[in-house]
Amino acid sequence: MDAFEKKDPRLKIKAVVFDFDGTLAVLNIDFSLMRERIFGLMKGYGISPETIQEKYLLEITDEVYQALRVKNPSAAGKFYQESHAILHEVEMGAAEEGRLIPGTGATLKKLRGKGVKIGIITRNCEDAVRKVFPSINDFCDVFVSRNSVKKVKPHPDHLIYALKRLKTSGEDAVMVGDHIIDVQAGRRVGMKTIGVLTGGTKKEEFERAGADYILRDASEICKLLEG
Ligand SMILES: [Mg+2]
Repeated sequence: MDAFEKKDPRLKIKAVVFDFDGTLAVLNIDFSLMRERIFGLMKGYGISPETIQEKYLLEITDEVYQALRVKNPSAAGKFYQESHAILHEVEMGAAEEGRLIPGTGATLKKLRGKGVKIGIITRNCEDAVRKVFPSINDFCDVFVSRNSVKKVKPHPDHLIYALKRLKTSGEDAVMVGDHIIDVQAGRRVGMKTIGVLTGGTKKEEFERAGADYILRDASEICKLLEG
């Protein structure tokens, strides 16, 4: 077993919250194209990329929106719409080619069969996820895309909202994801965290981020719960 176990050898939880892209599905979103297009748009609105503090695109569009709002509220609204149209377009393009990671449906079913509640949260848009996984509602108790919350992970609000809907506390739940954002978000609300190696993140990066377990893929969580 490849599980990296730092604390409890067995995981006792009532709910599992999964990330989507890279964790349950393969979705090759072209983030550099997205970035290039958003930065191009930003420059057209007189905002210089050098002034940007945020690291990730969704937060960057919020930052630019706030900066523009002070001077010109209508330009701010227009920028927000146009930038989100770019994000949506690139995400939908990736969703066309996207597919679930083999075993995803079986894993979710198995967990629910054990009485474990399932949440799925994502920074992706709702349309793109539903394109790849049309029957998502049949496999989870709550699905929270970025369209359902104001602040997305790693901001804790995204998980707080999902846990509330699952009627579960952070201590009784585990967050599973392929990015350190997922580990950061989970830790912020007191969840156990699992990093999976089906995205681009390496084992060492998850260790540095403080993940409780590192698994090859999401299906291995069943073994972890069985102990
Ligand atoms: Mg991911």
